[in-house]
Amino acid sequence: MKICIIGTGYVGLVAGTCFADMGNDVICVDNNPEKLNMLKNGIVPFYEPALDDLVKSNLKKNRLEFTDDINYAVQESEICFICVGTPQNNDGSADLHYVTEVCEQIAKAMNGYKIIVQKSTVPVGTSEKLEKIIKQNTSYPFEIVSNPEFLRQGNAVNDFICPDRVIIGTECDSAIKVLKELYLPFSRTDDKFIIMDIKSAEMTKYAANSFLATKISFINEFANLCEETGADIEKVRIGIASDSRIGTQFLYSGLGFGGSCFPKDIKSAIKTGIDYGCEMEILKSVEFVNINQRKRFLNKITNKFGEDLSGKIFAIWGLSFKPKTDDMREAPSIEIINGLLEKGAVVKTYDPGAMKIASKIFSNKIAYCDSSYQTLENADAVLLLTEWNEFKNPDFEKMKALMKTPIIFDGRNQYDKHLLEKLGFEYFKIG
Ligand code: NAD
Repeated sequence: MKICIIGTGYVGLVAGTCFADMGNDVICVDNNPEKLNMLKNGIVPFYEPALDDLVKSNLKKNRLEFTDDINYAVQESEICFICVGTPQNNDGSADLHYVTEVCEQIAKAMNGYKIIVQKSTVPVGTSEKLEKIIKQNTSYPFEIVSNPEFLRQGNAVNDFICPDRVIIGTECDSAIKVLKELYLPFSRTDDKFIIMDIKSAEMTKYAANSFLATKISFINEFANLCEETGADIEKVRIGIASDSRIGTQFLYSGLGFGGSCFPKDIKSAIKTGIDYGCEMEILKSVEFVNINQRKRFLNKITNKFGEDLSGKIFAIWGLSFKPKTDDMREAPSIEIINGLLEKGAVVKTYDPGAMKIASKIFSNKIAYCDSSYQTLENADAVLLLTEWNEFKNPDFEKMKALMKTPIIFDGRNQYDKHLLEKLGFEYFKIG
């Protein structure tokens, strides 16, 4: 099939590359010249496991093309995927200006019937509005479909190739048939297709992210109660996760959720609730607990060292909002590092993927190290903020020898408290 993908970020580039890998002809459009330049040379502009090789091999086989020419891309394609960002406005609502702009551009470029697939996360009712915009700008026939994306950064290629489900929001049988054909290679083992009306498809994405975020804030709230009462959240987690109705996933206490999706999608769902007079009380609490989790972590540090941290050196392990990505949007590390700097601390950092992005955020306010151990030289404490694999089983004796005082604040509950205390560390975890 001939497809164009508009927006080559985490979603668009992964979707486009995976469709190309299945033998489709894919044209990816972006309006960022720097990004396009890299992509044309087979370089992925962000860190995402397995994506680099796939982009290179599909470029070589001429199934994948990158351009800034949306007219050409639309005219060559039967299906147009909208994958641009939907960041948040100041009032929490989703900023739809990228999506509406692209819709207008698609409409003006159309040269015949097109299926326009809306993959960006947008509030319920958006596709209806987009349909009007397209109609105002073209006389050619088209069908608009909502096809929300559920991939996770850090595992995006695998998630796209082996999805739990493919949601197709439309009531048009011919569009359903075409999209089923396109996605069939990813749905071979069992039927992954869920067909529904367009509004329900839009809402499903928000409901899914809201539920997952709720699980995280839920376990964090219990972690805090465990901390105050002397129970151990890790044991409680195992105790509840063994119930098949509850399950094991997304029940890890820590510094809370970040990234470009959960925080903004929760805000947007809360705003939709306000707009429709149906307040989302649970989500308001989910957001509150999440923000508070970072403050509690900083409090642990000032409880130990006092409010004035001048002269103290803190080693930071992990900066990205989660492992296996370089994305630092809404990462807990940002708030925690800023909190330490405000109190006069010296901060030395290391992250396996996010050092370049971190240097754009913090410039010369913090030190950037080449390895996890380098951050520890003369440090008063180490803070584990992102659970990258390479931090999971460090040489604790070596750590102790390098640090001024052997103190660990574990924001992701990765280490064994008893073992560390036996080795002479002072160890603080969540819950
Ligand atoms: P992103 O910011 O990484 O990428 C968006 C891309 O769109 C950028 O490369 C930007 O240059 C490009 N763009 C913006 N305006 C354009 C225009 N007029 N023409 C061409 N290109 C344009 O965003 P993302 O993380 O890929 O997310 C895209 C959407 O998918 C969002 O709505 C997001 O909520 C949703 N989503 C994201 C994820 C994720 O894990 N990142 C998962 C599921 C859904």
